[in-house]
Amino acid sequence: MPVSTDFIPKFIAAASVVIHDNAKEVTSLDQTIGDGDHVTNLQRGLDSLARLADSLAAMDWSAALQKIGMSLMSSVGGASGSLYGTLFLAMSKAMKDKTLDAATLSEAFEQGVEAMKQRGKAGLGEKTMLDVLIPVADTLKEACSAGLALPQVLENVEKTAAAGVESTRDLVATKGRASFLGDRAKGYLDPGARTAQLMIVAITRILRETPA
Ligand code: ADP
Ligand code: MG
Repeated sequence: MPVSTDFIPKFIAAASVVIHDNAKEVTSLDQTIGDGDHVTNLQRGLDSLARLADSLAAMDWSAALQKIGMSLMSSVGGASGSLYGTLFLAMSKAMKDKTLDAATLSEAFEQGVEAMKQRGKAGLGEKTMLDVLIPVADTLKEACSAGLALPQVLENVEKTAAAGVESTRDLVATKGRASFLGDRAKGYLDPGARTAQLMIVAITRILRETPA
């Protein structure tokens, strides 16, 4: 399934729509266990990507991912800005001179998530977006080595992302602003995990519609 950068404007638009449609829920979560700005931070980033969308579609994957990472670094702000910036810059490096298919995406995403872990000094079970991103990276890798067909890969990714966000509900946060709340953060989903899951599913839905 080589996927061309022509899809980037669609991915950006779909991510913007899903964040807009769920803004109330996520903002309420971030007002409860964060400082309430997570949705506006992400929307600033997605708006800046929307302005670049046509130029991104004319680049190869490595160049486009680099531009996305740099744009997010400078526009998003908050913890999520540098983390998402780091993710895409590391993916750009991994995609140098490569076309995007299940195997190269899986490898690049794994390296991107690894770079994020180092940047935020965080891992699994700390009630952050990594509770979605780490299991999704693992699922992608397993799906690739098992040689699963695209629809099955996408379904596994969606299930993993949903389970990941749900896993944050009963966790105590040990990173980010929610860590100041101790036990009081229990019972709430992590807003960054929820938006990561929403954006991943927005993208898998588009990929599901691509001809094999
Ligand atoms: P800030 O917390 O600086 O206001 P945002 O509101 O944009 O930034 O993003 C908050 C989200 O960032 C959290 O819900 C969590 O998922 C994620 N996050 C915070 N710190 C870390 C970290 N060290 N590693 C990974 N993710 C983190
Ligand atoms: Mg915040």
